[in-house]
Amino acid sequence: MKYRYVLLVFSLLIPLPLQAALKIFACEPDWAALAQELGGEHVDVTSATQAMQDPHYIQARPSLIARVRKADLLICTGAGLEAGWLPVLLRKGNNPRILDGQAGYLMASEHVMMKEIPVSVDRSMGDVHAEGNPHIQTDPRNIARVAGVLADRLKVLDSANREQYQRRYEDFSLRWNTAINDWQQKGASLKGMPVVVYHRSWVYLQDWLGLKEITSLEPKPGVPPSSRYLAEVLNRTQEYPDLVVIHSQYQESKAIQWFSGKTAAPVVMLPSTVGGTAEAKDLFSWYEDILKRLLNAQRSDND
Ligand SMILES: [Zn+2]
Repeated sequence: MKYRYVLLVFSLLIPLPLQAALKIFACEPDWAALAQELGGEHVDVTSATQAMQDPHYIQARPSLIARVRKADLLICTGAGLEAGWLPVLLRKGNNPRILDGQAGYLMASEHVMMKEIPVSVDRSMGDVHAEGNPHIQTDPRNIARVAGVLADRLKVLDSANREQYQRRYEDFSLRWNTAINDWQQKGASLKGMPVVVYHRSWVYLQDWLGLKEITSLEPKPGVPPSSRYLAEVLNRTQEYPDLVVIHSQYQESKAIQWFSGKTAAPVVMLPSTVGGTAEAKDLFSWYEDILKRLLNAQRSDND
């Protein structure tokens, strides 16, 4: 009897465990950052890829499979960006909560207007994305759209905290839309800026800011350029003296060096996701940094 009493007192002294945070498995750091913005202390977020990795190609490591197995929500770009590794993770993770059709499965590209959906696809086109260009995170208006979908999913998956998710979403949207207006004003002078990209990672950014893509240094997605192809590119860009070369943090290529050496075009490395540069610490500072780098390149071109 006495023993039971002691047990009762003891159990009253132990605080009830806090409700476990929603486990979110993001494929890229940008979606992880968005999930953190909207989920706050109610979510536990990990990203499969780091900013210095090319999200087209990573290994489906056992540590990633373990995280997939425990996840309550999967948020990825989709549209084939992760085609080389995500299906393997999902198969080996064997987690019914995050399969296609469940509230725990969110492919960002299914909720924005896709660009460059090819009419037909065959292997000769290189590592081409059949569902359109997947690099949707480079237009902040796409981030805003995905934020709305993600907030709704958080409310469904963790309904006890739905009011807090709604509040966080409204707060984020207000700040994000204000920032978009600010970036558009700052970036107004970039309109028409001719750019040569390495990989075609920037079509959404280009359309948003009105940059003019002349060509890419990759002849086809995922295919490194031959010297003959580069000579062609050089020819095609001759009429643009104020050309700027753009590449992402994980694309260090001899072709970029060669091309900028031949043309004296400034080379600008843009962070393709949060963490891509030291300055790109969160979603806001990431876009700030993109704008700053483009404007600097433009300025150095006009010198
Ligand atoms: Zn790509």
